[in-house]
Order: sequence, then structure tokens, then C-alpha cells
Amino acid sequence: MADVEFLPFARPALSEAAIEEVVATLRSGWITTGPRVQKFEEMLSACHGGRRALALSSATAGLHVALLALTLETGDEVITTPLTFAATLNVIALAGATPVLVDIDPATLNMDVSRLEAAITPRTRVLMPVHFAGLPCDLDMIYALAKKHSLRVVEDCAHAIGAEYKGKKLGSFGDIAVMSFHPNKNMTTGEGGAVITDDKEVISAIERLRFHGIDRNAFNRFAKGGSQQYDVVLPGFKYNMMDIQAALGLHQLPELDGFIKKRAALVKRYYEALENWPELILPQAPTYAHTHAWHLFTPRLNDRDGFITAMKAENIGVGLHYQAAHMFSWYKERYDWKPEDFPNALAAGNSIASLPLFPTMTEAEQDRVIKAMEKVLKA
Ligand SMILES: *Cc1c(COP(=O)(O)O)cnc(C)c1O
Repeated sequence: MADVEFLPFARPALSEAAIEEVVATLRSGWITTGPRVQKFEEMLSACHGGRRALALSSATAGLHVALLALTLETGDEVITTPLTFAATLNVIALAGATPVLVDIDPATLNMDVSRLEAAITPRTRVLMPVHFAGLPCDLDMIYALAKKHSLRVVEDCAHAIGAEYKGKKLGSFGDIAVMSFHPNKNMTTGEGGAVITDDKEVISAIERLRFHGIDRNAFNRFAKGGSQQYDVVLPGFKYNMMDIQAALGLHQLPELDGFIKKRAALVKRYYEALENWPELILPQAPTYAHTHAWHLFTPRLNDRDGFITAMKAENIGVGLHYQAAHMFSWYKERYDWKPEDFPNALAAGNSIASLPLFPTMTEAEQDRVIKAMEKVLKA
């Protein structure tokens, strides 16, 4: 198959205008946090009901400062899903809190909200749902429980920018939402992320935490008319987004809905081609109204690892998102988690594969994937 180009499972769709904007930024003399970050934040805010959007170096940074802004104490518990990227659990541990896991619903691969209330204890402070693959969790249930038990909600929307729950865009309602702009995600700034919220205390805490604990941003300080004086009010991080990154975001964000439409059209073709294959279990939709962001398309199969290897031999990249997080050694040892504690996540983590899916993927490329799957799975 050496004559066929390798087809990756994901590839960013960067317009010439976006590339030109990066070049213009480089030539402008202002390459770190400045006017383009400010404009990108304003655009993000406008897309999310006017709520404040804080641009950051990554979603991991966003999840971290969101939890720190909620002033968690040692022993406080944050409830999340075992079927997520390691960053979700890492930031809980880094914030000094204890992750508590709720197993997934094997049909949707999202946290099984019917098990959520049983996991809430007097130490629970935060619910941290992950909208897996871009499918919104059942947020009415989650926010009802948050209200009943006085909990905060930090939504890990790394897969789900642009997704809608009951007609409302994720991040435009609720408590705190965190977006990712990693190159594999639905829109990119190279690396980058954002927190979206309307909580004034959380906003001012994150403004400080993202830049050294300084109470004024660098643009104001160094721009003409800005004051050189500043105070450090706490030991903060270096989590700011650069203008070079925001330059991409300014062009990616207006394209996001189009990207999602293309993803959805490709997913429709996957469902049509693959339904009724006994070798596969395809992801299922919940009954509530939603618009899926289709970051990932993750069928389940018996010999997943063999499938990934065989597809690679066909020059096709297949991703693994994710092994169940409770199986990673630090977590297993620290919290004494056993494989069978979260059997649905364990089984999903051992059987899901992310098929190639990105907005510039052609139908011919997708047909190549389906043909290769036929060869690999039905031979
Ligand atoms: C990608 C991802 C993150 C981290 O995003 P970064 O922008 O790479 O830091 C967090 N949670 C989930 C579920 C992710 O997929």
C-alpha cells in the first residue's frame, strides 16, 4: 500500500486566510497576548450568549484554573467519568482534590447520570462531566443534582465546542465550560483553550491565575498609555494564549459550524455503511434533543488493538480515545481503583477505536477507510 498516502484519523483544516493572519501577527511586532487574543475572546463570548470567554494556553490549563478558582480543599471530591483524557483527572489531583468516578452508559459512552447521585458525598464540591466525542451529557439532570446538593459544575467541553443541548450551545448556559483548541479538536489555535462562564469571582480569579497572579494583563501594561505598575496577588501560572495562536482562532471560529456539518455528513455515511456489521457496535444517541459536535466517531470492536495495527498496514490511522483512566498506574495506586470498579468504562476503553474523521476528509478517503475495514474485519 506504499503508493497510497497515509490517512490520519484527524487533520486540522487551516484556511489560507488563517495562515496569512499568523504571518501578519508575526510581522506586527506583537506576538504574545495582545489585540488578537482580545478579539478572539470577544468572538468566543459572542458565540456563547455574551458570557465572558478567557483564552488560555490549553484546555488543561482551563480545567486547572477553573478548579483552583473554586478554592477546593484537600479531601474535596470532584466527580467525573473514567472514559476521558488523562488531563481531566490530572487537574483534579493537581488542584488538591480527590477524583470520584461514575461509570459510563455503554450506549452513549457518557457518564451514566442515573448513577450520579449515589456518588455524591458530603465532601463532593464539583461535578465535572465530559461531553464524550462531542455528545452533550444530560445537563438538565446534572444541573438539577448540582442545585439540590449545592455543587459547582465544570463542563469539560474539549470535544464539544459548537454542540447543543436542547437547542442551547454548550457554554452559553450553566456554570463553567472549558473548550480545547488542540489541533485534533473541532477547531484549533495550535495549542489553546478557553474558559467560558458568567461567574464574576471565577472570572477575576482566572484572570490572575492565568498570568503570574498579576492583577493586570501584559497588553495593558506594555501598550502605550498602560501603567507599568502592577501587583502580584497570588503565585499564578503562565497559562496565557499568544496572539500567534489567536490569529488562527479568529478564522477557525467562524468556520466551526461548517466543520461540524461536514463531520456530521461523514458520520451519517459511516452509519449507513457500517450499520448491521456484526463485528461493530456503533455509538447510540440519547433521546433528548441535541446537536452532536462529532469530534470523534468511536465504534467498538472485539480485537481493537489488532484492528488498529491492521488498519495501519492499510495506511489508515485509527485513534484510541481512551483507555479507561482508572487503569493508569498513578490513579490505580493512589485511589486503590480496581479494573472492575467501572466495568462499562473498562470494556469501552478496551474496545473503542476512533475512525478517521475531519472536515477536509473526502468521501473517496472515507470509502477507502470502509473498504479497508471490510478487508480487515471480514477477511
Ligand atoms: C483534549 C482534551 C483535554 C485537554 O485539552 P488540551 O487543550 O490539549 O489541554 C481535556 N479533556 C478532554 C476530554 C480532551 O479530549
